[in-house]
Amino acid sequence: NGEIEFDNVSFAYDDRTPALKGVSFKVPTNSSVALVGESGAGKSTILRLLYRFYDLKEGQGRILIDGKDIREVTQKSLRNAIGVVPQDSVLFNTSIKYNIGYGKFGSSDEDIEAAAKSAQMHERIMSFPEGYETVVGERGVRLSGGEKQRVAIARTLLKNPPILLLDEATSALDTSTEKDIQKALQNLMLGRSSLSIAHRLSTIANADIILVLKDGQIVEQGSHKELLALD
Ligand code: ADP
Ligand code: ADP
Repeated sequence: NGEIEFDNVSFAYDDRTPALKGVSFKVPTNSSVALVGESGAGKSTILRLLYRFYDLKEGQGRILIDGKDIREVTQKSLRNAIGVVPQDSVLFNTSIKYNIGYGKFGSSDEDIEAAAKSAQMHERIMSFPEGYETVVGERGVRLSGGEKQRVAIARTLLKNPPILLLDEATSALDTSTEKDIQKALQNLMLGRSSLSIAHRLSTIANADIILVLKDGQIVEQGSHKELLALD
């Protein structure tokens, strides 16, 4: 399970510009779809609709998960089925270990450590984020953008949802950070369906399907190979 379908979805935030115009696509179970396109093309809107920040009205099409209209499931069970890895994850005033533990309350230390390891975050697991300090007065450590993202990845590994929404950072990451994130993401994406707002070439190249959006419409779709063969 974890199959996603957008069926002729149109959406506008206000009555001026439509954000999506008749968008249809499928994310087959366990496959990865990369959304690419200029700023304002409609990528975030697709993720927001799937997570039900907004509901489609009559005549705006349908969004289905495993064949079921998402308006017919409770918001709670929908959000349990979907893991979100944001650009900037919020870190709480506690160790990285317990920050990861927020992914699933009641997780054992072993499970948290395994998730940290899959996300390449195990070396700093007892550190606190910068700006915070421990009860004995140790100062927190500065985490890079890539490390914060790996905390979010580890949290989501613990939550273990069949569907993932990923919003990649646009900021440049150094190559070693890039490699660590790539490895962590591969571990996370294994056996799940994913929709990513893709900025990194590696994510685009590794996606099963690439959707190219322009002005709220899909203008190209296919594998990396197929899209390269178009010219
Ligand atoms: P992308 O993620 O590809 O940059 P978005 O999905 O954020 O694009 O935006 C699609 C269109 O919807 C753009 O024209 C954008 O200005 C508009 N839009 C996005 N969010 C809002 C909002 N909250 N209110 C009004 N318009 C919005
Ligand atoms: P992203 O870079 O992730 O695509 P944006 O920078 O487009 O996000 O949007 C950031 C936030 O600003 C969005 O969550 C949206 O609510 C809001 N927003 C984007 N475009 C508009 C718009 N045209 N009018 C009002 N709010 C907008």
